[in-house]
Amino acid sequence: MYLADYHTHSRISQDARYPMTDMAEAAVAAGLDELCFTDHIEPIIWYSTELRQEPIDWAAMTAEFAAAEAAVGDRIRLRLGIELGDAMWSFAHTEKLLSDAPELDFVIGSVHTLSETYGGIDLYLFEPKSEQEARAGMRDYLEQVYKMAKWGKFSVLGHLTLPLRYLNEYRGFSLTYDGFESEIEDIFRVLLERGCGIEVNTNRGNAPLPGEKWLKMYRRLGGEVITLGTDAHTPEFVGCAIRERQQLLRDCGFKRFCTFEKMRPIFHEL
Ligand SMILES: [Zn+2]
Repeated sequence: MYLADYHTHSRISQDARYPMTDMAEAAVAAGLDELCFTDHIEPIIWYSTELRQEPIDWAAMTAEFAAAEAAVGDRIRLRLGIELGDAMWSFAHTEKLLSDAPELDFVIGSVHTLSETYGGIDLYLFEPKSEQEARAGMRDYLEQVYKMAKWGKFSVLGHLTLPLRYLNEYRGFSLTYDGFESEIEDIFRVLLERGCGIEVNTNRGNAPLPGEKWLKMYRRLGGEVITLGTDAHTPEFVGCAIRERQQLLRDCGFKRFCTFEKMRPIFHEL
C-alpha cells in the first residue's frame, strides 16, 4: 500500500521546531513512500485578527526544503505544500501574501479561529463553560469553514471538525458534530463545486478529523479527492495512524486517496 503523510509541520511553522530533514528522516523510518510539508501560513498575526504586514519568508521555506531533498530525497518522495490558515479574515490580503510564493505542490485550507462574535479567538484558547456554549462555538466554526470553502483557493479542506480536538481532548467534553448535518453537507457541496477535496486528519492517533459519519457523507455526495495527514509537529508522530485511517477510508467506501504534484491530484489505490 502506498503511504503518504500530507499534513506535517517543520520549524518553518511558528509552533514547531524540527528541521524538515528530521521530519523526512522520520518518514523514512516510518516506512512512508511520500511526505508533504505543510507549514502554517496565515494572513493574520497569531492570537490576533490583525493582518500580517510582513511578507512571507518563502526563501527560508525553500532553503529548508532543498536541504531535506539533498539529505533524504533519494529515499522518499518529498513535496512542498502549506497549510493556509484562516484566510477568511481577508481573502484579498491572503492572495497578496501568496503572490510571490514558490510553485507549491499542495495547499491545505483550514480554520483555527472563531468569528468576530468571539473576538476571533483561536480555538486553542476557547474555553466554553457548558455543552451549549461549546456547541455554539462549534456552529460558529462551521460558518467560518463555509466562508473558506466558498473562496476555495486550496487543494483540500483541513481538519473539518477541529473544535472536537480541543473540546474533547483538552477541555473534558465528549462532543460530536451530530445535529450539524445540513451545515456540513453545505460545506461539502461547495467544496465539490470548487474542485476542492478534504483531508482525513489522523490527529496524531486520536479521533480522526473528520470521523466516519462525515467521511461517508462526503463519499455519498461524490467526494473523491481526499488526502491523509497526521498533523505531526514532531518526528515521533510522522506517519502516525496513516495505515489505520486508510482502512477507515476503505470502510467508508473510498477506493482511492490522493497525493498532489504542482497542485494536481494523483490518485492511489486503497
Ligand atoms: Zn491546522
